[in-house]
Amino acid sequence: MTSASRLQAGTLYIVATPIGNLSDLTERAKQVLASVDVIACEDTRHTQKLLQHLGIRKPLLSVHEHNERERTEQVIHHLRQGQTMALVSDAGTPLISDPGFPLVQALRSEGLNVSPVPGVSAIITALSAAGLPTDRFTFEGFLPHKAGGKREKLEAQAQEPRTLVYYEAKHRIIETLQIMAEVFGPERPACVARELTKTFETFYPGTLPQIIEQISADDDQQKGEFVVMIAGNPDPAPASEVDMDKLFRLLLVELPPKKAAAIVAELSGENKKALYQKALEIQGKA
Ligand code: SAM
Repeated sequence: MTSASRLQAGTLYIVATPIGNLSDLTERAKQVLASVDVIACEDTRHTQKLLQHLGIRKPLLSVHEHNERERTEQVIHHLRQGQTMALVSDAGTPLISDPGFPLVQALRSEGLNVSPVPGVSAIITALSAAGLPTDRFTFEGFLPHKAGGKREKLEAQAQEPRTLVYYEAKHRIIETLQIMAEVFGPERPACVARELTKTFETFYPGTLPQIIEQISADDDQQKGEFVVMIAGNPDPAPASEVDMDKLFRLLLVELPPKKAAAIVAELSGENKKALYQKALEIQGKA
C-alpha cells in the first residue's frame, strides 16, 4: 500500500464499487478493502462475490435499511477501539440511493473519521455520455412507485431549468416514461441510459415519445438497470401565486398528514384541524 493510501486508525472508508464492469474498481478501493479490519456491506452474499473475485477475505457486517440504526452502535464501538472499516453497497457509491446516510451522519456527530474512496456512480456515468446539459443538474433518485404520487412529484418539477436525473427499475420504466411524456410534453430533450458499463449498455437519446417507442419495441430493451435524464425547462413559467390545494397534495406525498396540514395552515390561514381531516380524506383514511 502506498503512503498516500495508508489507513488511518478509527476511520470508516466509504468505498465505491463497480456498477457493472468489475474493472471499474479503483486500485485504491482494492487496497482499502484488502487492508481494513471489517467491511460493512448492504448484502453480505453480494459483497462476498466481489471479494472472492479480488482474492480478499474479511469479516463482513451487514448494514441495510432495516438494521442501520443498531449497526451504527457497533460501527462506533469498532472505530473507537481504533479499528478501520469500509462501507460498500451492492453497486456504485454508497449513500447514493443506497444505505449509509444515518451511519455517516451519526459518525460525523460523534466526531469520528469518515473518508471517501471515490469511484463510479450511475448518475455521473450516465450524464457524462448523455449529451444533455451537465453544468447544472438535479438528482431526484427513485420516484414514488404509485402512478398518482409519481405524477404529482413530476408536475412539481416541470418548471425546473436544470437537467433532471432519475433512477428507475425495469418493471416501471415504460409507465414512468409515459407519465413523464405527459407532464414534460412531447418536445423535451431526454436520454435514457441502460445497463451502463455492461455488455448491453445502450443510450436512448431523443424526445420522450421517441424513447418510449424504441424501448417498447423490444422486450429485451426493458431489461436491466436504467437512468432517466430530462433536459430542464428552457422557458420556465414565472412563479405565480401558490396553488394551496396542489401544494397540500404534494406535501402529503412526502410528509405525514399532521405536518402537511400544519404547513398549509400556516401559509394559507386555513384551519389546521379541517386541513388534517381533508388530508385523511385525500389519503382515503377518513
Ligand atoms: N449507489 C448506486 C450509484 O452510485 O449509482 C445506485 C444504487 S440504486 C439502489 C440502483 C439504481 O441505480 C438502479 O435501479 C438504476 O436506476 C441505477 N443503476 C445502477 N447501476 C446501473 C447501471 N449499470 N446502468 C444503469 N443504471 C444503473
